Amino acid sequence: MAAPWEDVLRNKAAVEEAARVAVDAALLQGVLMRTEGEPNASDVVNYAPFTLLPSAVPSALFQQAYAVQQDFNLLVDAISQNKEFLERTLASTIKVDDFTARLFRIYMQVLEEGLAQSVFLGINRSDYMFDCGVDGTPSLKQIEINTIAASFGGLTSRTAAVHGQVLKVLGRSEEASRLLPNNPSKGLALGIAKAWELYGSQSAVVMFLVEEVQRNIFDQRCVENELWNRNIRVIRKRFRDVFEKGSLDDAKRLYMDGQEVAVVYYREGYVPKNYDQQNWEARLLLERSRAVKCPDIATQLAGTKKVQQELSQPGTLERLLPGRTEAVARMRATFAGLYSLDVGEEGDKIAAMAIADPDRFVLKPQREGGGNNLYDEELRQVLEKIKDSPERTSYILMDKIKPQPAMNYLLRAHSPLQVSECISELGIFGVYVRQGKEMVMNKAAGHLLRTKAIEHADGGVAAGVAVLDTPYLV
Ligand code: ADP
Ligand code: MG
Repeated sequence: MAAPWEDVLRNKAAVEEAARVAVDAALLQGVLMRTEGEPNASDVVNYAPFTLLPSAVPSALFQQAYAVQQDFNLLVDAISQNKEFLERTLASTIKVDDFTARLFRIYMQVLEEGLAQSVFLGINRSDYMFDCGVDGTPSLKQIEINTIAASFGGLTSRTAAVHGQVLKVLGRSEEASRLLPNNPSKGLALGIAKAWELYGSQSAVVMFLVEEVQRNIFDQRCVENELWNRNIRVIRKRFRDVFEKGSLDDAKRLYMDGQEVAVVYYREGYVPKNYDQQNWEARLLLERSRAVKCPDIATQLAGTKKVQQELSQPGTLERLLPGRTEAVARMRATFAGLYSLDVGEEGDKIAAMAIADPDRFVLKPQREGGGNNLYDEELRQVLEKIKDSPERTSYILMDKIKPQPAMNYLLRAHSPLQVSECISELGIFGVYVRQGKEMVMNKAAGHLLRTKAIEHADGGVAAGVAVLDTPYLV
């Protein structure tokens, strides 16, 4: 399933010229990021890292990933409404993982008060790798579903144009014309706009809740601009601003600086370091409000690694989506082996199995954002250390997916041009809107391909490991 331009990679002069064109094209198209040195100013910006060439993706697996996205939207939404499931699934985790426990406490408090929110908006991204089976046939295997702050829907809308130009420069116009158009930011904005409309107040705004450090602002601006184009006002605020200036009225309408907020779109709040005591209070205020949260706290919990592991247990999908046999089969076909490390005989066996054969597995804590998982020797050492303690239950174990590597150049500012052996991860964006019990929108909104050198076991684009890419279907 190699791309038809492996030969090009050996032509040093052609590669150097193509790389110069590629970088300028990326800047012109707006594949941008702020710099590490000045993450909160746009005076000096750089191109976001990307591959020189598009990477080959098996067409059938690409279509399979799109075809299952609406099922995953339904599933995430069903989990978010199932208190009994979330309570039971996260019971062992919240005993040992303080972050999940704090989220869970807010979830319970909001439920006890009674939900003020009646419109629900989900924006998620289901990520996959192409596992190379024993006979070499690739299969689609899910890495995880991101239910909060799934990024790069904006910048990825612009990479196909860059890669198209690179292919033309390399004399591959035919292949360039076959790159697929892709615009997740538009689909995301359509979902936000629908939620805003159903909230039903013309003068209310959409609030992007953003981090203190905003290097990836251009990715977010792509979605913002789509909303402005529809005459929907967007404001950007941090938890700190909400703590200082946010308030609820008697009907739990959310106000910021006197402006009513219809939709809160979180690009923040997914890792412990996003929170201090004030930020937790701000989060609680937002969750108690009538505003549409994307995601609400229940949907964030639906995206935890522990929930993912529970979904792989026999019968779980069927119980969550009764009567949807085909959807269940489509989703299950993408699952890799996932194992609970809960205290007990079964967990003991799993831990022993991983310690004996660490190369077969990935050990995952309840964290997002890349760089948290453990592999190989480190996996073995950590598991040895915690195998007899309850701390073990804050992790899940997953089969390691092993894709077939391909050669490519990863273009990064201030880095030498050098060929790497790479693997890719495909993400499909899902968007849905529910009003009360009725699903009013359920879509796949586009894709994201990220590629990294094989020496990095973990990490995404924001973590500085993976780079943006464009699929070339083969
Ligand atoms: P995070 O929430 O931190 O993004 P992920 O589950 O997506 O956590 O894992 C981070 C990265 O680790 C992935 O992007 C992928 O490169 C790698 N990874 C995760 N799970 C596996 C797996 N089962 N097999 C191989 N690589 C994996
Ligand atoms: Mg991930």
